[in-house]
Parts: sequence; structure tokens; C-alpha cells
Amino acid sequence: MSSPAVEGWFTTGTDPALIGSRCTSCGTVFFPRAADWCRNPACDGTEFEDAELSRRGRVWSYTDAQYQPPAPYIPRTDPYEPFALAAVELEEGPGAGMVVLGQVADGFGVDDLKVGAEVELVVETLYTDETGERTIWRWRPVEGGAA
Ligand SMILES: [Zn+2]
Repeated sequence: MSSPAVEGWFTTGTDPALIGSRCTSCGTVFFPRAADWCRNPACDGTEFEDAELSRRGRVWSYTDAQYQPPAPYIPRTDPYEPFALAAVELEEGPGAGMVVLGQVADGFGVDDLKVGAEVELVVETLYTDETGERTIWRWRPVEGGAA
């Protein structure tokens, strides 16, 4: 059995997607899921519906996590191995788009990333506990997606 490590943040299956909220008044989409109020300052909407976000985006920035994050981070390896984090810009969101942070998919590192390169959302196992695998979204570089 596998299930998301965080409930309600993404869908699973063959084409997983992040779940955001869309304001029913102005159509602005947010992630993480909102909200009691619309983040568009020009809108006073208070009703939201779930919206699946684009499965692909472009690398806006990235970093190498050289130090083990504090609890509740669960180390996957002992000793700790650095992993790459990518901030990915999706076309949704207020104005110029929204940026969603995520780990880079297994087998990829900062050397595989480039600002502006296309990445795709994948769901991978974060850790395994007594009830099964816990999954999280990651960003995987798209073949030939370099800017
Ligand atoms: Zn709104």
C-alpha cells in the first residue's frame, strides 16, 4: 500500500498533479490549497474549488541541500546525502505565475537542472513505515527540456 505523506496536496496515479484552490469569483489559483480569502488583492471572493495544477513547469531556481534539515525531516540515507531542491514556476497563479518548491526526482541532482528548463511532476516514495509507503511529489527534468 502507498499513500501520500501529506493528505490533500496532490493526486496520485499515472498523471499525478498538485491540488490547488481556484477562487470562484476571479479564477485565481493558489497553492498550497487555501484559503479563507482570495489572495488577489482586487478580489473579495471567499469561495474556492479544487484545481489540479499543471504537471509541468520551468525551473525558477534550485539549490543543493548540503545540510540535513531539522526534524521532522526524515533522513533517507545515513550518513546524510545532499539532495537537490527545485523551485518551479507554473503558469497558474496571480500575475506571473506561482512557484512551487519540491525535491528533485530520485537519480537527479543539481547538475541536471538549469534555470528555465522544463520539469515534470512525479510522485515518489518519501519513506516507508509500518502501514506502507508514503509518497511525495518531486520534480523530474524533462528530456530535452533545457532552455
Ligand atoms: Zn478571487
